[in-house]
Amino acid sequence: MKKFLTAVAAIMCAGAAAYAADSPDVKKFTFANDVEVYAIRDKNTTMKASLFTDYTKTSSLKKEDLKKEYPASVNCFVMRCNFKTFLIDAGNYDPKGSLVTKLATINIRPKAVDYILITHLHPDHVGGLIDKDGGAVFPNAKVYVSFDEWKHWSPIIAKQKPTELLRQFRDAYNGRIQTLNPGEPVVPKQVYAVKAAGHTPGHCFFRQGKLRFVGDIVHAVDLQIEHPEYCASFDSDQKQAYQTRVSFLETMSKEGCIVFGAHIPFPGVGYIMKEGNGFRFDPYQPGK
Ligand SMILES: [Zn+2]
Repeated sequence: MKKFLTAVAAIMCAGAAAYAADSPDVKKFTFANDVEVYAIRDKNTTMKASLFTDYTKTSSLKKEDLKKEYPASVNCFVMRCNFKTFLIDAGNYDPKGSLVTKLATINIRPKAVDYILITHLHPDHVGGLIDKDGGAVFPNAKVYVSFDEWKHWSPIIAKQKPTELLRQFRDAYNGRIQTLNPGEPVVPKQVYAVKAAGHTPGHCFFRQGKLRFVGDIVHAVDLQIEHPEYCASFDSDQKQAYQTRVSFLETMSKEGCIVFGAHIPFPGVGYIMKEGNGFRFDPYQPGK
């Protein structure tokens, strides 16, 4: 009987692993040095062309050339490296806890998450950290946010409404929120914060080896990679957002980095390639 139960458990485990690889909302990627990343889709969405304006006023694109809506997504990522589990951004608040359900398909329990890396404090990046009672979904994780981002939002949080979600976040993770300056490591010699301000005053991204978790540097990949001069209306400083995007495109293409975008259509993973005087986005294809 014991042998039979062990065999059943083994089949169930194998089944769970297969489901994780094939789940429509979870996609696994494996990289050098046993680094694993799971892209997790919070939801599909679109970005209307009317949300974007040409910051430089020099674009060759005419208004009528802009497509009506660009495909987008809300993604977050789980990275496993050196026996640690990182959650990078957390998607929207969902009282039903869909992030936890998706993590369960890859056998990750909330208490097993060691580090949470937040690119910036917008609700579509921190909402998934809060449960239906306003408590912490992840009981053991340290949460990392850039110092500038925390400094910007703290007085706003203090006023409470309409930032109820952020107040809940601050209270639920009290004592576990760690601020970082750009260049500082989350884990020494492994994972670092990189300054990428513009979308918000303290927006940052995170790097591990060649991997770059870039948050909201790009919102509509089909528009802004080729035309980085187009800024989303919700960029808090369009000049800075534009400069950050241009320098990001140059650096990512030169260094051959693998980019993980919070709003690039799921799974949101690929390369920035130089093309003529501009750039293009090539989705990542394992084995190529
Ligand atoms: Zn966002």
